[in-house]
Parts: sequence; C-alpha cells; structure tokens
Amino acid sequence: MRRLRWGLSGASDIAATRIIPAMRRLGHQITGVSSATDVHAAEYAQQHDIPYHTSSFDLLLAREDVDAVYVSTINRLHCSQTLGAAAAGKHVLCEKPVALNLMDAWSMVRACEAAGVVFGVNHHLPCADTHREIRRLVAGGAVGQPLGVRVFHAVQLPERLATWRLTDPAAGAGVPLDITVHDAAVINRLLGQPVDAAALGARQGHWDAAVDDAIMSVIRYQGNVLAQTHDAFTVQYAGTGLEVHGTEGSIVAKDVMTQDPIGSVLLRDSGGERDLDIPGRRDLYEVALEAFAHAVEEAGEPAVTGTDGVRALAVALAVQEAASSGLRVPVVTEPAGRS
Ligand code: NDP
Repeated sequence: MRRLRWGLSGASDIAATRIIPAMRRLGHQITGVSSATDVHAAEYAQQHDIPYHTSSFDLLLAREDVDAVYVSTINRLHCSQTLGAAAAGKHVLCEKPVALNLMDAWSMVRACEAAGVVFGVNHHLPCADTHREIRRLVAGGAVGQPLGVRVFHAVQLPERLATWRLTDPAAGAGVPLDITVHDAAVINRLLGQPVDAAALGARQGHWDAAVDDAIMSVIRYQGNVLAQTHDAFTVQYAGTGLEVHGTEGSIVAKDVMTQDPIGSVLLRDSGGERDLDIPGRRDLYEVALEAFAHAVEEAGEPAVTGTDGVRALAVALAVQEAASSGLRVPVVTEPAGRS
C-alpha cells in the first residue's frame, strides 16, 4: 500500500482522536495542518507532532509534499475545500456530511472526476467488520427478502463536541447531518434506492440548541422496504444497534453503530439463533484509509465513494426537511440533468 503524505484541513477533534493515530499506524505521513486561526493551528501542530501549520488552506494545498487532503473542517467548508483540493490536483478524503446540499455535493464528485483525483467520504460504519458481515448475509439471502431495518443511533454527545453541531445551522448543525447521514450510508448499501422519508424531531438536551437534538425517522426504500432510525445527542444509556428483518430471518446487531470495532451480530431464522463470528475487528478508520490509499494506486475504490456520500446526504436532507416541515419528503439522489 502506498504511504500517503497528508495535509489535514481542520485541526479537528475527529482528526486528533481517530484519524491521526490511524494514519500513523498505517505508516502514512502528516505533512501539515490548516485551521481557522494561527494560534489553534500552531497549538494543534505541536500537540500532534505535525511539522507544518498554517491558517491558510491555500498554502497547505500549494505544498508539493501533500498527496492528499483530509477535510475535517465544519460541514459548511467541505465543498469549497474539496473543490480547491481537486483544482490543486490533490486526492480528497472528506468528512461527512459530504456537503450541505446536493448541488454542491455533486459538484464535488464531478470536480474530482475531472481532475482525476480520488474522492472518498469518511463514513466509518461501512468499514466495520460487523457491517461487512451484515451486508454479506443480506446479499446472500440469509434473511430472504428484506422488509424492514431498524437503526438505534441515539447517543450522548460529549460536552467537548457540544459546539457548532448544536448552535450553528449555517455551519451544518443538527442530528440529520451528524448522525442520520451515517445511518443512511449503512442502510443505502443494504436496501438500495431510498424513496421518501417522514420524521419528527425534538429539543431535549440541557443546552441552548438552535436545532433539534433528537430525531426519529422512517425512510421507505424501493420495493416497499421500511427503515426506521432513532438518532439523538441526548441518550446516554440506550446502546446502539442495527436490525434487518426479512421474510426468512432477522439479523440483530448490537453496539455496531459506533466508532470502535466492537459489537455482536445474531442471525435468527427457522433454524434458531446463532451468534456470528466476526473475524478481523480492524479499526474502522484504518480500513477507510487503507482503501483510500489503494484507490490512489488505482487498485480499487475508496470504502465510501463520493457518490455514496452524496446518496447518504440525500437521505439526511430529506429527513431534515421532513422533520422541519412535518411532511413526507421524496429522497432525491440524482443531480438535475442526470438519470
Ligand atoms: P471540530 O469542531 O473539532 O473541528 C472543526 C475544525 O473546523 C477546526 O479546525 C476549526 O478551526 C475549523 N473551522 C471552523 N470554522 C472555520 C472557518 N471559518 N474556516 C476554516 N476552518 C474553520 O470538529 P469535529 O472534529 O467535531 O468535526 C469535524 C468534521 O468531522 C465534521 O464535518 C464532522 O461531521 C466530522 N466527523 C466525523 C466523524 C466520523 O466518525 N466520520 C466523527 C466526528 C466528526 P479552529 O478550531 O481553528 O476554529
């Protein structure tokens, strides 16, 4: 696998807690970091032993020793920074949600295609060995024809992250763009084409949020398959889970909507119940970075492509609109003019 030289756009929590350690475990190099302010960029660079820092994204892009950019700024900046990176000929691994609207999101896919650079979106859940096993089971007919999916992804937002996600809609705040979009990256792979969504949201937390911090949604997929999600920043003790119920069996997976390589997968059918062995249990972010590096070598695709990221965004946007309008909202995945 090629060891990439990365520029980090965003002196972010996710880079500090997950991505920098995963890059280093894989032997990748971190060339530099850019952030909104010089002071934070400098502190962060020192804390994480990164040789170069700047408050100018353009200066980071101009460096010849950057092969690829990892974009983990606030959601509003994902589009402009991906377009900038593509124009500079850098490969892009962008955090989710890929953008704030579909037009921007498709423009990112097209710009990266035109520039001949790899574009991946960092949805970690499809990289989990538990999720790979669930996809394998569903594709292999273990549950027969899928009828319904239930996602349990209501968690407690750590205080250190209770900032722009809750307070700044212009930055891309809110549960749908933070959590539902991850659910969609999982469900789309299992069920295919989303059709429409209904949802209700609420404000439940102790904070002064500008957006709903809890949402339940129902999404209909092609073939009249229903998916339900419970996504929240306010629930401490529920645990997470994913269930797939079909004509011939059910998969019940516990603790699998997480950042860690944990959780169990149970299959129940006419033969009874069995807990499945999950081999590997690799770090989810390492799997994503490794697939991305292979894609740069033209040896495959990123674990979640730009197009996958746009389709996950389409579901999250429909859920967001459904919750705010009280209406059932069609999920539009294709850009205008494309079939
Ligand atoms: P943080 O709040 O920790 O970091 C956000 C970064 O954006 C900071 O470097 C901040 O700079 C920068 N920023 C803010 N405003 C501007 C601006 N106007 N111009 C330039 N830079 C700016 O974010 P998180 O780590 O919580 O989230 C970062 C991204 O990662 C989000 O898109 C989020 O959805 C995604 N994420 C993905 C996860 C996953 O598992 N895939 C998990 C968690 C987050 P400064 O600090 O200098 O102001």
